[in-house]
Amino acid sequence: MTGIRIPADHGDAALAYAALGIKVFRVRRNKTPYANCPRCDRRSSLYVKHRPEDCRCGVPTCHGFWAATTDAGLIRRWWTEEPDANIGAPCKLNGWAVVDVDPRNGGRESLHALEKRVGVLPATTMQITGGDGLHLLYRSPGFDLPGLLGPGIDFKHNGYILLAPSLHSSGGRYQWAGDGMYIAPTVDWPTALLPRKQRPRTPAPRATPRHRFPAHENRQQRPGGGRMWTVADLVQHVMDTHEGNRNNALYFAACRAHELAEQQLIDLREAEMGLMSAASAVGLTESEARASFDSASTRPSDRGRAA
Ligand SMILES: [Zn+2]
Ligand SMILES: [Zn+2]
Repeated sequence: MTGIRIPADHGDAALAYAALGIKVFRVRRNKTPYANCPRCDRRSSLYVKHRPEDCRCGVPTCHGFWAATTDAGLIRRWWTEEPDANIGAPCKLNGWAVVDVDPRNGGRESLHALEKRVGVLPATTMQITGGDGLHLLYRSPGFDLPGLLGPGIDFKHNGYILLAPSLHSSGGRYQWAGDGMYIAPTVDWPTALLPRKQRPRTPAPRATPRHRFPAHENRQQRPGGGRMWTVADLVQHVMDTHEGNRNNALYFAACRAHELAEQQLIDLREAEMGLMSAASAVGLTESEARASFDSASTRPSDRGRAA
């Protein structure tokens, strides 16, 4: 599947998502919720007790993300009223489960520790958040997930995320990773991240051999085992990813490479050469590959350490 370029205007972007079947709602810059109707407003004397998912008030804007819609008329009205409103999208209602990495709270270190434990997370649709964090969008497993994984890293499933080009309080914009195009997530929530009781007893066979990631599976069989990342693992990751996601896969591998190099666990030059030739082997142009590799190194923590 090819990516969709998302317009820079918030209202147009919201309509573009809706046209792809993604339910959206508006979120104020400061996240103050929009008012509910009196029947849905707990502080009103007309309030009727009900759960948001069971609401029958008929007002299409009540209950925050439960109001999310693909209705173009309603979306136009919202963003005409407030052209700068950010674009929210509920995760579960859109069939997504999201790993949310917030570098300001140690998310990169937590992601690194997690991947040392369970192996590299499968490449998937990624968004750079306005706060320089990362959203990894997987397909929802269809049941509840634990919310918090470690400092600065959590699973967003019952909640919502903001979508590009929403503006973060820090002034940064949300942006789809790689080439800035949105690609619908097609990768299932990683088995290794499922609650223990939900994991298959024996590892499920992968759909096709092309998608196998041997290092990942080795580590799954030896939880807490000592096998360390290699440049070959990262190269394999790029090679194994299916067509539409290769730029994302490269970006993801490049992020890992920079993290590992910072900890002096791999040689960055070697990783760079390996990843650039893998990128060329899977059909990315040199400038695309270069842009992805470099964007992985321009996150503030990398810049800080490089100085
Ligand atoms: Zn209502
Ligand atoms: Zn209601």
